[in-house]
Amino acid sequence: MKNAKLAHKSNPQHQTIVKLTDTVAIGGKELIVIGGPCTVESREQMEIIANTLQPSIQALRGGVYKPRTSPYAFQGMGEAGLEILTAVRSRYNLPVVTEVMAISQIEAIATHADMLQVGSRNMQNFDLLKELGQAGKPILLKRGLAATIEEFVMAGEYILSHGNPDVVLCERGIRSFDNYTRNVLDLGAVAALKQITHLPVIVDPSHAVGRRELVAPVARAAIACGADGLIIECHPVPEKSVSDAQQALSLEEMVALVASIKPIAVAVGRCVPEKTIEKTGVDVKSTPIYLPVAS
Ligand code: PEP
Ligand code: MN
Repeated sequence: MKNAKLAHKSNPQHQTIVKLTDTVAIGGKELIVIGGPCTVESREQMEIIANTLQPSIQALRGGVYKPRTSPYAFQGMGEAGLEILTAVRSRYNLPVVTEVMAISQIEAIATHADMLQVGSRNMQNFDLLKELGQAGKPILLKRGLAATIEEFVMAGEYILSHGNPDVVLCERGIRSFDNYTRNVLDLGAVAALKQITHLPVIVDPSHAVGRRELVAPVARAAIACGADGLIIECHPVPEKSVSDAQQALSLEEMVALVASIKPIAVAVGRCVPEKTIEKTGVDVKSTPIYLPVAS
């Protein structure tokens, strides 16, 4: 991949660490687990997730601009959703990741989020990638639905070459002939990307398999093969998720999954960060749960 001048790994120790905050980074010895719903639905939903998962995850996800297959499906809360992310982010001291779909959304999202996600459907939206070179925030670039590894790396190269050194790659499964799973998780690509590039590589097992019962084993395999972290969809009432309900984990399943990757992380020379009050500034146990107003 000779053209990947900036993404290219010059020696085996060459590894970029992308900082989301002073205490949360991707690409070092500590793994990152990003959890949250497919779509931000309400303040209550995000409060319950952040409150329950604060001890287990390092960052929160949630889409407010959603790339839906049908134009009639819920398209996301937009700016109101960004306000919710900001409120929950500061209350629980959890950095947030959310998707940017258009150049016109960059400024608003960059003021609210700690990392901007480029979804699979936009991986080769070159104008968007160029503009994200100047976003001033880390970018989570998801692999296109049918993108080759080279196309994926070169999409990252667009962002790097336009001035943003903080790019994280995300393998989220690619299209194949079998529709039992939603996509096919390409763990070979994870290993290859770690060898070819110095960028952090995380895995999204949720969109890869599309079935909640398969998310945990695949997530564990991703950590075993060298991923720098995971981004996983979860919901307080998974079957009620407004989007991607079939792949959402319950919050209890999410906690169990994070616990289960700890020994695997250690076996491959990594670790799952231990959350302490000193480190996060949040006394998780004494943080009151935001109670939804009864309707
Ligand atoms: C998502 O993360 O909610 C999403 C839409 O992912 P992808 O772009 O990988 O389909
Ligand atoms: Mn989703």
